[in-house]
Parts: sequence; structure tokens; C-alpha cells
Amino acid sequence: MTDPLSAVDDAIPSLELVLEHARRYLEDARGPVRRRDADEAARSFARALPDEGDGALSVIRGLLERGTRAHIRSGGPRFFHWVIGGSTPAALAADWFAVLIDQNAGGWDSSPIAAQLEDLSLRWLLDLFRLPAEWGGVLTTGATMANFSALAAARQWWGEQQGVDVAGEGLAGLPPVPVFTSGFVHVTALKALAMLGIGRSAVTYCCADETGRLDLGALERALASQGGRPAIVLASAGEVNAGQFDPISEMAALARDNNAWLHVDGAFGLFARASPRTEALAEGVDQADSVISDGHKWLNVPHDCGFAFVRDPSLLTKVFSVSASYLTEEEDGYGFRGPELSRRARSLAVWATLAAYGRTGYRALVERCLDNAAHVTRVVDSADDFELLAPAPLNVVCFRYRPAGLGEADLDELNARIGQAILRDGRVYVGTTRWGGRVAFRPAFVNWQTTTADADLMLEAVRELGQALG
Ligand SMILES: *Cc1c(COP(=O)(O)O)cnc(C)c1O
Repeated sequence: MTDPLSAVDDAIPSLELVLEHARRYLEDARGPVRRRDADEAARSFARALPDEGDGALSVIRGLLERGTRAHIRSGGPRFFHWVIGGSTPAALAADWFAVLIDQNAGGWDSSPIAAQLEDLSLRWLLDLFRLPAEWGGVLTTGATMANFSALAAARQWWGEQQGVDVAGEGLAGLPPVPVFTSGFVHVTALKALAMLGIGRSAVTYCCADETGRLDLGALERALASQGGRPAIVLASAGEVNAGQFDPISEMAALARDNNAWLHVDGAFGLFARASPRTEALAEGVDQADSVISDGHKWLNVPHDCGFAFVRDPSLLTKVFSVSASYLTEEEDGYGFRGPELSRRARSLAVWATLAAYGRTGYRALVERCLDNAAHVTRVVDSADDFELLAPAPLNVVCFRYRPAGLGEADLDELNARIGQAILRDGRVYVGTTRWGGRVAFRPAFVNWQTTTADADLMLEAVRELGQALG
């Protein structure tokens, strides 16, 4: 029998196995993003619950070997799919430490270090993004839950405008919550509306064209038709297909004039504020009522991490606080500002990476990504067999492989097939989308380690597979 208590001495040798593995893993940052045998390696884990355990060392050895074969190197510099960052050295080490000390970051009494560093991290992030220092917030598992938390505050505000405490009384008896946005809105903001009882169909889209760009006049008319009744406006600072921005300043002015709450989803695009080259894209976010972003994207801290900021943070507490006789004088803890009560200490990695690299380090990181996106844009634009489908204002480049002589339907089919082949190929990872109806690649540059050579390899792989499949 292997009772953990009788095997307490396994802890250090097990950690040494991981550290030894880390040496090789980090040196091999440009190894395959996906190995050819990844699926079999993953399936090889399947078995019945053992009666007799194998012991920690044997299990950890197997996990390191087969787990690495079955993993996706999404934290590496050749990963361009979705929007996924890596982990800076400081963030990685701090997160290991967070697991070692296994804190519950619900409040000061459960962990002074986690509470202190969450407070400091949120302040530093407000500073990095030049948002008002009086705003409050909370660290979440990602942008989905950050959208959820911020929109819960919006819902609370919306109820209060009508004399109703939605956290207490619910939405029953109230009219539908009017929500207005462009076609750039992220699906997780809609999911948040679903979770909040507002509903996905509460949304009115004000789109100027088939890419989803905002029709500002349509938004103005839609808000005016509310006659001053409270509403919610969702703005995107960086949409996922081509890194486009809604006109946030203009939306803020309309929201202010029409008694609407402005929520900005800047899951990665808020980092435009970290460089003077791109800060104008997100101008006006400081006039919003809530703004969210992700940690596991451009901040390059490990999964999972996001953050929500609210102009009036007391709204978060109204929704998320709980009272119970065993929870004393904790009214101020972070477990009362977001959906989870018990939470991991994700602040340690956030604080460590910001402390280690500072404002200038983050500016350099962001600008390297901007340079890579600009490089890919130039190469695509000057190549005969690539086509740029949208301007790339930030870090996402929307393009397709376009050999001469193919019609639209054939181009869509070819690009979709390259998209499937490139994931199996595994040298790089890059995903496809549809932009204005056309199948397109949309590499996103957020990894701290990606170089121009990595970006070139991505283009080469698309072209090579395109030639083979075309
Ligand atoms: C990634 C993303 C989200 C969702 O973030 P998660 O961290 O996956 O929950 C929301 N909005 C935008 C714009 C995103 O890019």
C-alpha cells in the first residue's frame, strides 16, 4: 500500500525530477509545438483506478515523459494560434512557489502574502494601462470570468438605476437588460451575459459592414431610443480575428450621454497601452465603467489568470460577498470581489513578472510583438502568393494563402485544409478564422520569446503546405 504519509520523503525527489525535466524543456523552447505521437501518448494514460498506487516517483516520471509527448507547446515562441502567451522566467518560478505554499487567496487571514500581492498587482496593472488609480478589481481565471465579474457589476448598477438590488432580488419582474455592441464582441462576453441571466439575445448589434465594424450612428440612434433608460454598451479593445478596435472614446461619450454602462473587453488589446506606438488604439478606456484583460495572454503569466477592473468596485462586493458565521471580518477580501471564494494565489506570478521586468520590460515585450506583426504584414503584402485581408493595427495579422488562378470557394477550401495540416505538421501552430466571409490565417503575437525568424517559419510552413495541397 502506498499511503502518502508513509511516502512523505518522495516530495523532494519528485520535485527534482520536475526541475531536471525543466532544464531540458526550457532549452528546447523551439521544439515541435505538437509531436506526431501526441494523441497516442495522451491515450496511453487511460486505465482503471489502481488499487495499489505506483508511488510518486514512478508516476511523475511517466507524467513527464508521456505528458510532454502529449502536450502542446503553447507557451513556446512558435505558437500563434488563438491568443496564448507563455510564462516569463519570473512568472514561472513564482507560480511554482505559489503551488509550493498552496495559499487560499480568499482574504488576508487566509494568506497575507496573496492578499498583499493581489492588491499590489492590481494597482500596478492600473498604472501600466494608465487607468484611474481609484478603480478596484479582482484577479480571475481569465477574460471569460473577468467579463462575467465586470458585467455582474454592470448588472448590479443597472438594477440600482431602477431601485432594485439584483444581487438580492434577482431579475424577475424587471424588463430585459438592453445591451449594445459591434460585431467585434467576443463570444465570452456573450457567454457572460448568458451566465448572468441577461441572455445572449438581449444584444443589439450595430454593425457597419460584414467584418462587424461598429456603426457609430446606429449605436447613437439605438441608445437615444432608450430615452434615458439604463443600458449596457460592450466595446472591444482588440478583437480576435484581426486585432481591430472599436472607437472607445466615442462609445464612452455616447454611454455617458445616454445613461449607459460602458464595458471594455481588452483581453489582449489593453496591452496596446503599454507602448506609445499603439496607445491611441485604446484611447478612452479610462472613461469606461469596467475594463478587463487577460494575464495568460500578453502578460505572459501561466494559466490561468485574468483581471477585471471596475470604476466603482463596491458593486463587485455587492454581488460577490457572502456572509457566514465561520467567515469573520473578511468583508474586504478578494474572495468577496469575484465568483470564487477559495482561489489560487495567481497574484504571485503577476506581481513577480511586473516586479522583474517593470514598465520598460513590458514595453519592450509588447513592441517586439508589434514588430513581428508588422514584419509579417510587410512580407504578406509584398508576396505574390499571400494576401493581407485587413490592416493589422496591433499584433494579429489576418491573411490568406493565395496562389494565382483560384476562385473564392477554392481559396477558402485550400486555406481551411492548410489550417488543418499545419496543426498536424506541428512545427508551428496557427489557426484560421473567417474575415468578411473568407477563410484566413490570423497569427497572434503575444509570446515574450517569439523572434522574427519564428514568424518567418510560420509563413514558410503556410506556403509549403499550401504548395503541397494546392
Ligand atoms: C481570449 C479572449 C477572451 C476569453 O479569455 P479567456 O482567458 O480564454 O477566458 C475574451 N475576450 C477576448 C477579446 C479574448 O481575446
